[in-house]
Amino acid sequence: MSKLCKCGHKMNIRLRTVIYKNRIEIDNVPIYTCDSCSKSEVFQPVKSELTELISQFGSNPEKKQFFFNETNELAFLLMIASQNEYKHTSVDKILEYRINELLDLLLLARSLQDDRWVEDILKRLSQITLQSLNTYDLT
Ligand SMILES: [Zn+2]
Repeated sequence: MSKLCKCGHKMNIRLRTVIYKNRIEIDNVPIYTCDSCSKSEVFQPVKSELTELISQFGSNPEKKQFFFNETNELAFLLMIASQNEYKHTSVDKILEYRINELLDLLLLARSLQDDRWVEDILKRLSQITLQSLNTYDLT
């Protein structure tokens, strides 16, 4: 899962910490980094969600720590994919497992008539399924 940097070298995706206004720490944000020129950019499919999260903090935020993988399924899946035990599992497979797991949870949440939970699960599902599977070209 890499792309070309403007300098011609390969950029690799890593989960990194983003600090906002020296107060807010957002961990596990998928970011492309070039080892050659140190240029970095936020992974495009999570950009709007990260921007939205940051826009909620205002100009004078309180000290806080967020885990991006807790609100964003793509960050969560990238985290899983980077773990050693899943080194030999394709991201497609991990996605498939996760979608099945979320669908099971959705059934459960609906049977409990927990609307907030249902909404949260639907949001997570859309974060995964709205992305083209080409995005997960990790090979
Ligand atoms: Zn570069």
